[in-house]
Amino acid sequence: MEARPRREGQELGALAFVRRWFGAAPRTDPAPAQTASEIKNSPDFLKKQQRLAALAREFGYDADKVTLSPQTKTFDYLGQSFTSEGQSFSDGRIEIYFDPQMSDARLGCCLAHELQHMRYFAVRDAYRAEPADGPLHRRFAKYAPEALAAQRGVSNYSNEHWDTWKGDARPKLFSMELEEGESEPINETIAEVAKALYNWGPDVRINPLWRELHDAINEEYAALRGG
Ligand SMILES: [Zn+2]
Repeated sequence: MEARPRREGQELGALAFVRRWFGAAPRTDPAPAQTASEIKNSPDFLKKQQRLAALAREFGYDADKVTLSPQTKTFDYLGQSFTSEGQSFSDGRIEIYFDPQMSDARLGCCLAHELQHMRYFAVRDAYRAEPADGPLHRRFAKYAPEALAAQRGVSNYSNEHWDTWKGDARPKLFSMELEEGESEPINETIAEVAKALYNWGPDVRINPLWRELHDAINEEYAALRGG
């Protein structure tokens, strides 16, 4: 998931809480200027929908699984109003929430972030399905909880997930972070690496350990997909 404060420049509150909000009925703006079907038929929406499908294909992802939603997912936390930019689901679907202000560049960043979650989920499933001495366990053994926690995140958004972690122990790679600690520091940090690489290109200066882990996950994802 990715969310941002509606009032720019303010720090995002506890993400754990935010995630739970999405499980429940999201709040919508009290007086929407347009109905969902009016938005869906607007030229701006249709243009962004086409752009999103083109981006999905550029990323090599099934464009049918990526949808632009006319809904505005807004929620309040600690007296602030937040808007969600996108969400990924474990069945492979990705929803991006339409925002007339969203540039094509930000649309691409948002999709890069959500697609990385899908790859993470796929490798996580394979890791959890194999025995404790399996090849994925061996490959990822060096990314111990202590090593990752020492680095923290790579952006404000991912650091929020480290700050709001409530687990008894440090988050563990490929664990069910949301269930164990009500936030997803590792999953979100890797998604933010993908976003930075998309936005700034391969020469971006980013934490080398997280970059290496991001690359390893994507390699294993490609291997799982037979490519
Ligand atoms: Zn996310």
